[in-house]
Amino acid sequence: MDTEAVHAGRDDLARQGLHAPPIDLSTTYPSYDSRAEAARIDAFATDGAEPDGPPVYGRLGNPTVARFETALARLEGTQSAVAFASGMAALSAVLLVRGAMGLRHVVAVRPLYGCSDHLLTAGLLGSEVTWVDPAGIADALRPDTGLVLVESPANPTLAELDLRAIAHSCGSVPLLADNTFATPVLQRPAEQGARLVLHSATKYLGGHGDVMAGVVACDEEFAGRLRQVRFATGGVLHPLAGYLLLRGLSTLPVRVRAASATAAELVRRLSADPRVARVHYPRLGGAMIAFEVHGDPHEVIAGVRLVTPAVSLGSVDTLIQHPASISHRIVDAGDRRGSGVGDRLLRLSVGLEDVEDLWQDLDAALGARRPR
Ligand SMILES: *Cc1c(COP(=O)(O)O)cnc(C)c1O
Repeated sequence: MDTEAVHAGRDDLARQGLHAPPIDLSTTYPSYDSRAEAARIDAFATDGAEPDGPPVYGRLGNPTVARFETALARLEGTQSAVAFASGMAALSAVLLVRGAMGLRHVVAVRPLYGCSDHLLTAGLLGSEVTWVDPAGIADALRPDTGLVLVESPANPTLAELDLRAIAHSCGSVPLLADNTFATPVLQRPAEQGARLVLHSATKYLGGHGDVMAGVVACDEEFAGRLRQVRFATGGVLHPLAGYLLLRGLSTLPVRVRAASATAAELVRRLSADPRVARVHYPRLGGAMIAFEVHGDPHEVIAGVRLVTPAVSLGSVDTLIQHPASISHRIVDAGDRRGSGVGDRLLRLSVGLEDVEDLWQDLDAALGARRPR
């Protein structure tokens, strides 16, 4: 994993006399052979395969973005990966691929990231969702079910699912596992039977809070359909973002391991703290923590100084947010609370700062230790 993270997507560089990957900003690619261009476009229309040679037009593909896709597919252990302008654009493309085949029904397990929940609940892309517990997946499948959608560990409760068992209950329906929280460093859902592995690459893959992106890792057949939808709907990733993501991947294992070690220590201290009612932390580990406070969670957000009070996650710096106010605000309050996203829940994305500095800040933000 560590070696792949540094080298995947860069295998040709030394032969080209390069060290850093080039950034190709071209929107179009000149060719004096328009017969060959026609053949390449026909081939893309048939199976969505990446054109051999230059991509014809920036919406069909980009060599810098392709490096990131190659690298992420290697890390997730899939044949292919297709990158998009954001995690939501990636999820939208998956729904469009299945919807275009007349498979508009989605079975999903809560909680999901707030906007993923909203996209399904509001039926913005014409899909219809049935929300179930993991045990109810098999019974919820219909002839027009195109997708089963889960997150593990889930945003924001960090609830974990048995992906292997879920993949089994999906039968021939593709299982999409959102692997944003675990990253391939901690979990590779494709090995457990998920046909589609989705990332908000905005989070850990980019890792520095300065790139917005999404990616789906999957088999080449599904990847072809995703590229065709990306071409027709335009949710492409900018090449500069592709460059930054490839760079982000090279430190992903180191960042995830370091932040996870700090998170585990913070979990130990929060769990022992009388001001904290409950701490949620996956058995898998990781750098995300959720905890419920006895006091007012808004006061904790207002009280941090080193930790940044902001939505999003997976950056080198530590972020804290109140899901009921921000990341999951768009979910109906009843559905939100019903899936474990309580009003006293806080979500902490642990970064690379020194654990003592982080604890000092959290300790102050949690307020006075009231005798109980
Ligand atoms: C942030 C997030 C998304 C959405 O990704 P964007 O890049 O913000 O569009 C999807 N799933 C999870 C688990 C997320 O945390």
